[in-house]
Amino acid sequence: MSYSGQCFCGTVKLEVSGEPEGMGYCHCNSCRSWSGGPINAFTLWKPDMVTVTAGEDHIAVFQKTPLSQRQYCDRCGGHLLTNHPTLGVVDVFAATLPTLAFAPGVHINYAETVLPMKDGLPKFRDFPSEFGGSGEQIAE
Ligand SMILES: [Zn+2]
Ligand SMILES: [Zn+2]
Repeated sequence: MSYSGQCFCGTVKLEVSGEPEGMGYCHCNSCRSWSGGPINAFTLWKPDMVTVTAGEDHIAVFQKTPLSQRQYCDRCGGHLLTNHPTLGVVDVFAATLPTLAFAPGVHINYAETVLPMKDGLPKFRDFPSEFGGSGEQIAE
């Protein structure tokens, strides 16, 4: 399978292939502040599954911490993805991939939530232990 996505203005286009490593919601303050939304719906991919097919020279990057290289279109400001080099995955935002059926499996950084969601999914205080977090879960 492959899924196409683009920025808000359509200058930058990308394609992901295969299936995501995981999908879910991030409630961290950084995602909230950068995105302007209360949570970030993420889909995680191995870096070599993500290909930019147009407008690569219009991709701008902002990196505040070593964990996240946040990429966006320098024409429209539309957000595309966040590369997590130390984790070995790329978060292509669910909103960037309209044809991918979003099937969240987990909440992360739930200690920082401003939008509690009672959906029965596991809710990690920070990150799962396999991603360097405490692995601790929080009750809904
Ligand atoms: Zn754009
Ligand atoms: Zn986050």
